[in-house]
Amino acid sequence: MTNQEMLISYINKLTEDEISSLLEAASLMLETKEPAEKPPCPYCGCGKVIRYGHACQKQRFLCKICGRTFVPTTNTVMANSHFPASVWKEMVKDTLHGNAIDFSAKRLGIFHQAAFDMRHKILLALQELPEVTDACLGEVSEFDETFVLDCYKGRKLDSTVARTARKHGAKAQKRGISNEYICICTGIQRKGDAIAATVNRAKPSAGELIRIFDGHIADGTLALCDGLRSYHAFPGIADCTVKDCNNQRSEESCFYHLNTVNGFHSFIKKRYNFYRGVASKYINRYNALFSAAYRNAEAMVRRLTEAVLTVTGVNYYHSNKDIRTVRLVAI
Ligand SMILES: [Zn+2]
Repeated sequence: MTNQEMLISYINKLTEDEISSLLEAASLMLETKEPAEKPPCPYCGCGKVIRYGHACQKQRFLCKICGRTFVPTTNTVMANSHFPASVWKEMVKDTLHGNAIDFSAKRLGIFHQAAFDMRHKILLALQELPEVTDACLGEVSEFDETFVLDCYKGRKLDSTVARTARKHGAKAQKRGISNEYICICTGIQRKGDAIAATVNRAKPSAGELIRIFDGHIADGTLALCDGLRSYHAFPGIADCTVKDCNNQRSEESCFYHLNTVNGFHSFIKKRYNFYRGVASKYINRYNALFSAAYRNAEAMVRRLTEAVLTVTGVNYYHSNKDIRTVRLVAI
């Protein structure tokens, strides 16, 4: 038996708690260890790099091909950050598990603004992960919209906002669905991917639905919806069938229903209310988070941690300025 096999057979005897504390200790060891291998150049991808002194207490490398220098965090989400990888890892976990920014700030002993910037850099990277950009709905998928109250968190309401500030919690001032709400269009495959996106306050037009779902519906999909005419534009973007689930005969309603998408809506509203709303201009960043966290939060924590911490050949870095300017929703 090799050392590795012996170790694995020993680990097999441990309890779940013991394994997770072992993993934590191992990841700490990895963090403090100097990288044994030289990372590939984040600019040209070649492996011909040499150690080239230190910068910001990190090993610096020089690429022999393109002549540029870099540190192990260049082009990762945590580039230019003073916080160690352990803090970023915890922030990724908190983000996917739906914890509030203030909760993370308190837990990690950092300022609110620092936690806010980290949260949004993580969300911007999440929006760019192939798992999110290439999400595809197929087989039997359900489509519907849900409405959440708009929110201007973090700023004073001025003349550009058509309502006064809400007092005593998140309650609409007008009855029914009004312009105080913003619409989140959602689609979810039964036992598959989920997509959520906002383009407008009102119910979506055919053009808006095409903008959201073009390239994200597989051929042969059965698209179930609630009778909104706009969904009948789907056959224009994929070879699919659209079926209204309203007025089903009772024996058919056990298959033609929207329970899956309604479950997704409950999840979105629960998270949204727990945050006490998110600023409406950032809603699509959070829509991406809701879609990614709904069914496989743990897998996404692992995937995002990798994108945040390691040079992957893709530039996931965003500056603090990007947080205020990139992919905002103006409605
Ligand atoms: Zn290079």
